[in-house]
Amino acid sequence: MTAPHTYITTTIPYVNARPHIGFALELVQADVLARAGRRHGENVRFQAGTDDNSLKNVLAAQAAGQPVRDFVDRNADAFVALAQSLSLTVDDVIRTSRDPRHRPGVERFWRACAQAGDLYRRRYEGLYCTGCEQFYQPAELPGGRCPEHDTVPQAVTEENWFFRLSRYAGPVREAIATGRLRIEPAGRRHEVLAFIDGGLADFSVSRPAARAGGWGIPVPGDDSQVIYVWFDALCNYVTALGPPGSAAYQRFWAGEGHRLHLVGKGVLRFHAVYWPAMLLSSGQPLPTGIFVHDYLTAGGRKISKSAGSAGSDPAALAAAYGADAVRWWLLREVPRVGDADFTVERLIARADDELANGLGNLVNRVVAMIHRYRDGLVPSTRAGLDAGADLDAACRQAGAQVAAALGEFDFRRATAAVWSIADEANRLVNRVRPWALAQAERGGGHDAATSGARLDAALRVLLEACRTLGRELSPFLPDAAARITAQCAPGEDGRLPPASPVFRRLATGGGGHAPGR
Ligand SMILES: [Zn+2]
Repeated sequence: MTAPHTYITTTIPYVNARPHIGFALELVQADVLARAGRRHGENVRFQAGTDDNSLKNVLAAQAAGQPVRDFVDRNADAFVALAQSLSLTVDDVIRTSRDPRHRPGVERFWRACAQAGDLYRRRYEGLYCTGCEQFYQPAELPGGRCPEHDTVPQAVTEENWFFRLSRYAGPVREAIATGRLRIEPAGRRHEVLAFIDGGLADFSVSRPAARAGGWGIPVPGDDSQVIYVWFDALCNYVTALGPPGSAAYQRFWAGEGHRLHLVGKGVLRFHAVYWPAMLLSSGQPLPTGIFVHDYLTAGGRKISKSAGSAGSDPAALAAAYGADAVRWWLLREVPRVGDADFTVERLIARADDELANGLGNLVNRVVAMIHRYRDGLVPSTRAGLDAGADLDAACRQAGAQVAAALGEFDFRRATAAVWSIADEANRLVNRVRPWALAQAERGGGHDAATSGARLDAALRVLLEACRTLGRELSPFLPDAAARITAQCAPGEDGRLPPASPVFRRLATGGGGHAPGR
């Protein structure tokens, strides 16, 4: 029996500017799913990439007065570097303008759709938003402005290749309604079904090469057109695996496992309607899940790459406050449904309250007490403690609760399950009062032996809880989890390492990681 295969993808962002905290959310969510899957023995591939072939990139490079190639490369590098800043376990990155796998893969995909009779040429007039790289119907534009960009779309008349989306409304709807293609949260599933039920119009899948400034992949057999950047970009999810028949493709796309796309709400239609239709047309399996996140605002304002990312640059935030603090805020504070507002103050407050005071203080206190009262030796028995039932329950249930929450794409609920261990452990410390037990033991009175046994048991139970925390935190805060695990592991002399802070407070004394590992 081979391990199940799980393929997890993030959307590939335009590289018209440096990354912002909103995209970091999607990367961190994907990383948690990837790490959790590997922990459970799944064979995971975490795929990321950059969408280089967008007209937006061309326009941004022109505005910056730089050659498109240099501009795109520099910004793409900043996205790739995020993997290290945020401790992401990305397995592979595909860059659509220069990866040798991509262009032949897109051409292959295009030809398969053409062979199925799903591509045709026609003259088209429409309202085009370059920000979205998308045509809009007048009814979709409140006040005549793009709902995403608040700009007035351009009236465009041109001859394009079209894809027969209308032909796939039934099969795509069926896949979603039966859950064969799962869309979470449910509200997003209903939204997609309603969109399909409203009728699907064929969509344009090419642009005149002249309007695209020569940037992009030419339509096979028609050099006057380049492939529409969305058609090109969506293909990355399979081109990164190599052609059908290749080992990676067979394992991660053609097999029995999970194929999960993480996407923002603004690109749901492309992933849940256009992409499945393209796959059906070209004779390929569908993804098994699409997990949709809402948007972040920063300081109450919509995050826009073009408006600059000052104060919300995820690499800068991770450098200043540590990857743990950034990850924790994204996972713990962003709701499954609804937008969330990011500020540095909130990040610091959350990290100090829960990581430094809650988790860090607990681990530090427990290790310090084992040193003070037991010379660093972990007591061998936990018998004689009648007060640890709630903590035991939190430890025992955390794994299953995390798995269930992640299965529903609910990171707040998942982190809450882990957090409850720290919460119960801190409560137990206050209830059992180990320092009072130590005093009674030292006092040598009639209850000295009982107090000593209770102290042993309490320290043992608390240390076990800290170890459980180290394990259960590992998908969420990999760096901190490693520090906690190291802090709870006896050395060759059988003693725990000296207590050292697992987290440092951020609000005072500047940011940064806790010292030492
Ligand atoms: Zn737009």
